[in-house]
Amino acid sequence: LEPKEEFEHSSLAVDVMRPRRNDPALAVLTQEGMTVGEVESTHYSGFPVVVSSESQRLVGFVLRRDLLISIDNARKRQDGIVSASQVLFTEHAPSLPDAPPPLRLRCIMDLSPFTVTDHTPMDITVDIFRKLGLRQCLVTHNGRLLGIITKKDILKHMAQMANRDPDSILFN
Ligand code: ADP
Repeated sequence: LEPKEEFEHSSLAVDVMRPRRNDPALAVLTQEGMTVGEVESTHYSGFPVVVSSESQRLVGFVLRRDLLISIDNARKRQDGIVSASQVLFTEHAPSLPDAPPPLRLRCIMDLSPFTVTDHTPMDITVDIFRKLGLRQCLVTHNGRLLGIITKKDILKHMAQMANRDPDSILFN
């Protein structure tokens, strides 16, 4: 088949990414201003870290597993880490008088998570997942963070495409 024909079958990153249209917003962490308690009460496997929830500018990506390990270690090791402690992903800590000492977690953040734009064809995205062995990738539009695609999202999408269009060469 010609690449042209492949392209006809292809969905775009925006069709596969989460959140879907009526879902709750993408769960993000802000680089400052969140507490240990808030970070601990999150549920997904990983989180984009953004400058602020208004800007949605991407700073990095952090795995929940690494967050929980770091918080646990900090509680054991450091005096003064409590649920109200601020979590910081910034390079420099703002000095907040009278606040409990912050937990600095920039070191566990992936500073260049893989991103595609919302209009990237899924055949290209799938190819990148395979070649780079990605577990997830982020989706942006004009530099603003829009969503996330995990490996499982891709597998579900492939299964749907296969049911709908068994002759499609794209995802078999
Ligand atoms: P998996 O896809 O391997 O189950 P997750 O538990 O992280 O991994 O994701 C479950 C679902 O939630 C997926 O459809 C994924 O796209 C979506 N998702 C993952 N991270 C986030 C997030 N930070 N905010 C909103 N949705 C997310």
